[in-house]
Amino acid sequence: MSNEKNLSIQSLARQNVRELTPYQSARRLGGNGDVWLNANEYPIAPQFELTAQTFNRYPECQPALVIERYAAYAGLENDQVLVSRGADEGIELLIRAFCEPGKDAILYCPPTYGMYSVSAETIGVEGRTVQAKEDWSLDLPAIEAALEGVKLVYVCSPNNPTGNLIDPAELRAVLEMTRGRAIVAIDEAYIEFCPQASVTGWLKEYPHLAILRTLSKAFALAGLRCGFTLANSELIALLMKVIAPYPLSTPVADIAAQALSDEGLAIMRARVAEIGETRAWLKQQLTRCDCVEQVFTSETNYVLARFTASSQVFKTLWDQGIILRDQNKQPGLSGCLRITVGTHEECRRVIAALQPLPGAGQTAASPDKNTAPSKEPM
Ligand SMILES: *Cc1c(COP(=O)(O)O)cnc(C)c1O
Repeated sequence: MSNEKNLSIQSLARQNVRELTPYQSARRLGGNGDVWLNANEYPIAPQFELTAQTFNRYPECQPALVIERYAAYAGLENDQVLVSRGADEGIELLIRAFCEPGKDAILYCPPTYGMYSVSAETIGVEGRTVQAKEDWSLDLPAIEAALEGVKLVYVCSPNNPTGNLIDPAELRAVLEMTRGRAIVAIDEAYIEFCPQASVTGWLKEYPHLAILRTLSKAFALAGLRCGFTLANSELIALLMKVIAPYPLSTPVADIAAQALSDEGLAIMRARVAEIGETRAWLKQQLTRCDCVEQVFTSETNYVLARFTASSQVFKTLWDQGIILRDQNKQPGLSGCLRITVGTHEECRRVIAALQPLPGAGQTAASPDKNTAPSKEPM
């Protein structure tokens, strides 16, 4: 009975943790690139100065000014807003508040963001998938058929990594079929790039709707770790029960409040406009590259494209210090790479690196290809 000695740390761990594959974050993937276009970050660091100095005191759990400003920005009441350590923490809080480990399930529709499954696995909750259709619309009958035991449905719109918005009629259909049964979390991490598509106005109609937001993308503050969950006050109160007592440090709350000031919002909107222009240029240039088969429509700060030999393309750019995100392993995304819209100069370098690469059946780039047809299926 004395096998304690042989008890490895591995075998002490929870089974679901032993089996876990950690999220492949951009930084973990390494590489020694100088053009980082793999994590949908903004390429230039915004400048802030700390105003708060009370570091001897614990911070507020839900810093009042941050909540007030985000509520005003989103057009909601203060009690409809929860601030957390990134939207990623919001994803996890929802599972912890609503899903019984070993019993309940979450549902999501690949290809999509990787943290829904990682959080579910970590907590010991089943991650059920219903693959999106070929045009990336939701497979509504399949979702309805898979709802048994599901407490939480994640829908990402605009979707990462595909870049498309989910049709509002489909979002409504999911909200109707889950009424009284499950929470629907709409991940709006990129909504600042298409603000008219936000579903915040639907909160009046759906008590089981939660919306995830972040300062990491359009606000250019991925390093701050600050995100939001928007929902009716009853749902927010439940999340408040499971959140850590001090989820945001004092400097984070200080900078978040500044980013959400009138001036901060104006800067964010100007940044969104600039990224939109660079994205249009990047898309147009990509369609002219021989090695590019398809460029997908994007409402975000990244572009997904399908390449004739994506592993080779990825490696070629990697060797030149340009780091993209390989989406080749996601269901339905064979040959696809995701490119963050960086500075104009960074995008120019991507195109310069892609231009010499051959297309299917070619051995070298053909010289005249300015009559490339539009490669957008949607
Ligand atoms: C980046 C991203 C997040 C995470 O945002 P953080 O606030 O940085 O944790 C959540 N969802 C999607 C779809 C994202 O792309």
